[in-house]
Amino acid sequence: MLTNAPKGTKDTLPREVYKWHFVEDAFRDMCRRYGFKEIRTPEFEHTELFKRGVGDTTDIVQKEMYTWEQAKRSLTLRPEGTAPVVRAMVENKLYADVQPGKYFYDISCFRYEKPQAGRLRAFHQFGVEVFGTNDMMADAEIIALGADFLDEMGIKDVKLHINSIGCPKCREEYKKVLKEFLAPKYDGLCDTCKDRYERNPIRILDCKSPEDQKAVEGAPRMIDYLCDECRGAFEDLQADLDALGIEYEVDPGIVRGLDYYTKTAFEFISTKLGAQNTVCGGGRYDHLSETLGGPPIPGVGFGLGIERLLITMEESGIEIPEPEGADAFIAFIGDAGKKKGLGLMRQLRKEGLHIEMDDMARNMKGQFKLADRLGSKYTIVIGDDEIANGKAVVKTMATSEQQEVPFEEIEAFIK
Ligand code: ATP
Ligand code: MG
Repeated sequence: MLTNAPKGTKDTLPREVYKWHFVEDAFRDMCRRYGFKEIRTPEFEHTELFKRGVGDTTDIVQKEMYTWEQAKRSLTLRPEGTAPVVRAMVENKLYADVQPGKYFYDISCFRYEKPQAGRLRAFHQFGVEVFGTNDMMADAEIIALGADFLDEMGIKDVKLHINSIGCPKCREEYKKVLKEFLAPKYDGLCDTCKDRYERNPIRILDCKSPEDQKAVEGAPRMIDYLCDECRGAFEDLQADLDALGIEYEVDPGIVRGLDYYTKTAFEFISTKLGAQNTVCGGGRYDHLSETLGGPPIPGVGFGLGIERLLITMEESGIEIPEPEGADAFIAFIGDAGKKKGLGLMRQLRKEGLHIEMDDMARNMKGQFKLADRLGSKYTIVIGDDEIANGKAVVKTMATSEQQEVPFEEIEAFIK
């Protein structure tokens, strides 16, 4: 028990953390190229932020949040990134800066869900948000950012699905039509969807259960009920994606699980993942800021699951370069050798080199073995003779070649 992590959580071990660094560095650099700046918000927020922001009828708020009470306040571990970033934008008046505001984040999220492949209770997301513009160019640009990032990660088996879920005006009309269509099939729906039928019928389109997928076959499509403004916006989005050279498929089934979405909804779906096949999902949320009591500031963004990204890369056989070993290992004999070695080690580390030395009193053979295991490129041997000569013996590990190098030239030699 004490040595088991909670269900649905996962350690990232030192031997695999380089994979995280690789995708994190790449995502940061992609955001830099697109002009997005990083924003960091706390791991927890007032519960009300998610209730209002994400929406009372959503799965997240109804059953997936980690919520507790402290000092008479209800707090919740962040289940998603958008509501907190909108909160921070309003609170810090970021809308007074150059518009649109373009932000990205690299965060942990927490949802009490049934753990399975690609679904954890503590997981991680990259995300981006653009605030302050209604123009579909912003939607197209974040989609391009996601596409370019996935492409740069070498992922080929991912398809972009786009949809419009309209605005509160045309969606109401559509909900009615959808409910009429589903009414005769109501008894066959899963329990969750029976509940959704009244509260949030559009979510039924997104249900993973086979009976419900069957029930929604041939259902009326939101894109056929869009008001003029929403239809125009959806056409603009497609024109901008075409101009950017991005391939997509219009998929009326993409509805997204969060209440705040309007107009654009999209997902990057991997053919390499099983049931949890959405690597990245996002959309527009024109009323979220107002819903939270802020000024009317439109927004659009996405969240990209880092664990799912890494699974997709692994399933696709994409190899992430492993980190290099130590630049040099200093092997020493005797007390004088140790002293000289420690001084040299510190000096070389200050010069930016990765230097290792044994601190478990191994003999010479053991030290060489350790140098090998640490992937060291050179092993520098220092003992009484070397100190007397003013030269260390330096072994190039790849070739086993050995040569004497004056102490003051070691840095240049191994660099
Ligand atoms: P799903 O369809 O898998 O339930 P979602 O619609 O709940 O996803 P979002 O809230 O849009 O997902 O989150 C964005 C991304 O975060 C998802 O596309 C997915 O890659 C990842 N993600 C969501 N929930 C989890 C989870 N429990 N474990 C791991 N990754 C997740
Ligand atoms: Mg979900």
